[in-house]
Amino acid sequence: MEDCIFCKIVNADIPSFTVYQDNDTLAFLDINPDTRGHTLVIPKKHAENITDMDDRDIAFVFRTVRKVVRGLQAAIEPEGFNLVVNHGEVAGQIIPHFHCHIIPRNTGDGIEYKSGGSTLSTQELEELAVKVAEHIH
Ligand code: 5GP
Ligand code: ZN
Repeated sequence: MEDCIFCKIVNADIPSFTVYQDNDTLAFLDINPDTRGHTLVIPKKHAENITDMDDRDIAFVFRTVRKVVRGLQAAIEPEGFNLVVNHGEVAGQIIPHFHCHIIPRNTGDGIEYKSGGSTLSTQELEELAVKVAEHIH
């Protein structure tokens, strides 16, 4: 993908602060970090999101995520992490090349991820689970 900024990083056309790479994946520091150590892990092969990736690249990306989490844990000793994938513009995906954010977290760091904002009845949950399950193969 010629115009893809992360493909350019893979090709070293634009610089990045790389923390790890192998044949299939690259991990580099986010240029505008949420917290110190905020790292992005990407497949080297362009894919907009997880539905475009093959099983192999998905496995390789998350193996690299685990490596980076372990590395960050040893290097900067955060209390925890958020592992975040924004999928689609509405979800905050700005760069259309799959990436998993690894965001080191500490008490009082001011980062807020809210969830649990909607409620469904038991019946709605049950019907929804059946409907979704029918579409997963
Ligand atoms: P998204 O919102 O697409 O999930 O996240 C894109 C992330 O990429 C943002 O956190 C942003 O700071 C980071 N980013 C955008 N451009 C560059 C770049 O050129 N280099 C690096 N290292 N990170 C970038
Ligand atoms: Zn790309």
